[in-house]
Amino acid sequence: MSRHLIFLVVGLGWAVGAWAAPAVREPANLDALKAEIRVYVESGAYREALAAVALEAAAWLERRAAQGGPRLTVIFDLDETLISNWSHLQEMGFGYVPGAWTIWVQAARAPAIEPVREVYRLARRLGFAVIFLTGRPERDRAGTEKNLRAIGCGDYAALVCKPDEARETAGGFKTAARARLEAEGHVIVANIGDQASDLAGGHAEKTFKLPNPFYLTP
Ligand SMILES: [Mg+2]
Repeated sequence: MSRHLIFLVVGLGWAVGAWAAPAVREPANLDALKAEIRVYVESGAYREALAAVALEAAAWLERRAAQGGPRLTVIFDLDETLISNWSHLQEMGFGYVPGAWTIWVQAARAPAIEPVREVYRLARRLGFAVIFLTGRPERDRAGTEKNLRAIGCGDYAALVCKPDEARETAGGFKTAARARLEAEGHVIVANIGDQASDLAGGHAEKTFKLPNPFYLTP
């Protein structure tokens, strides 16, 4: 093969490689995803999905209450489980801005997620202890308590917040907290949250996963 022909073959090979499909495809456009999420919420599909999970949780609590037992406890996460930050998320374009988040929490005006508030009410009616287990830090406690009272969910056995300086993930913190509650004698019959990290790690008879396409908490 002549030297010129070799250069031609190598050159063609490079050109074909360069024109081939890239190994990593272009991700979905972020604005398009945000628009899709708004449609999901505003169409009522989000609420329907929440209600379906809440219905399952309610059915389980009815059955479990009939079985009876001491110190039966239901654990609820807060953000995007019992309370909705939708208006704040919208305002922030789905971004997390620490200072703005603090102002939002202190305003204590987040509305309830209605189907889950119904589960909370049912849990209290059936005599379960309710414990709120949140990744919100201790410094958010006052605003959180005020918000819980404002939505009529002030009747709980404990609000467990993450220590301000904790470095562990929300998931690790929550698993350890449930283990501690069990060691103290609570029988956790249900654990309800919107993040996989709310529910991983055991220490609950049943878990209930609500939808959350807005953010991911490890
Ligand atoms: Mg949450």
